[in-house]
Amino acid sequence: MDSMKKPFFNKVAVLGLGLIGSSLCLLIKQEGLAGTIAGNARSQATLDTALEIGFIDSAHSSPTDAVEDADLIVLATPVGANKKIAKAICQSLKPGAIITDVGSVKVAVIRDVAPYLPKEVHFVPGHPVAGTEHSGPTSGFPELFANRYCILTPPEETDPKSVALVRALWETAGSIVEIMDAAHHDRVLAITSHLPHLIAYTIVGTASDLEGQLRNKKTSNSPEEKTEEVIKFSAGGFRDFTRIAASDPIMWRDIFLNNKDAVLELLGRFIEDLTAMQRAIRWEEGETLESTFRRRRQIRRDIIEMGQAGSFNPNETEG
Ligand code: NAP
Repeated sequence: MDSMKKPFFNKVAVLGLGLIGSSLCLLIKQEGLAGTIAGNARSQATLDTALEIGFIDSAHSSPTDAVEDADLIVLATPVGANKKIAKAICQSLKPGAIITDVGSVKVAVIRDVAPYLPKEVHFVPGHPVAGTEHSGPTSGFPELFANRYCILTPPEETDPKSVALVRALWETAGSIVEIMDAAHHDRVLAITSHLPHLIAYTIVGTASDLEGQLRNKKTSNSPEEKTEEVIKFSAGGFRDFTRIAASDPIMWRDIFLNNKDAVLELLGRFIEDLTAMQRAIRWEEGETLESTFRRRRQIRRDIIEMGQAGSFNPNETEG
């Protein structure tokens, strides 16, 4: 946003210095959006790495120390950690400070964080729909958010100036910002992101179990037959699933536990649709299969036309 003068903030505190936290810090540094960045993580190793790379100016093992005097606080931890952190920092927040987050679910984050915040602190929940399967402080890069959506879900009564500043931050990162109701966000992301991850985790497990059975049945000892066939013959489709299934287990555990209702509802619908496909195969309904595949192919084309096909980074998996 051109009208906002840099730096946008004197002090930013980023709690959680993994893929998203470190990418945001690198972006803030690159664009000169903050006077200083204070970082907090669970482990000393992450704090040391962050200081060494140089994307934070000060390292704090306590989130309470990190947020002192900060104008902007970013929660970049797994969503299951937010409640404890909000409880810990609420007394140390500067009046007028803005607090935002990057969590992949929004209703649960608002439920867990908002009740602890003092009235004079402004909460603007957010979710950059951008990511890779990598995690930790060395995985970040400032271009991660470029040309990707960032969804903000501020409750109606949120201070408009604070929403504008958080929007300006993400727009400087190159993101396309959308404002959305938190419950709507959670339903949309359940089908576009959470369910695909669940399918990936499941199918990789099914293939790996099958691998074990196939290996037990083998009689020949030729070196070729010893190679794991599922890995050996994995073509594009399965390889993409294994990449998605390499995503951080704690982050995804927290996403499913905190978006349970939406995921279960949409999983029910998905299973119905899958059963319809199963039936079409069983009864050799070629026309049904072909017309379904044709319609689905168009969706991919629409995504490419919208510039959301992941051409910048082929390793993308959005959480
Ligand atoms: P990450 O790379 O695994 O980093 C998580 C960070 O949080 C680490 O610095 C970790 O500290 C810290 N942390 C973990 N558990 C904690 C706890 N219980 N208390 C305090 N700090 C804790 O994760 P990420 O991929 O950046 O994800 C962070 C957030 O972004 C999540 O809420 C996720 O839903 C959201 N998000 C992720 C993606 C994605 O694709 N990855 C995309 C959009 C949004 P240590 O390093 O010391 O363990």
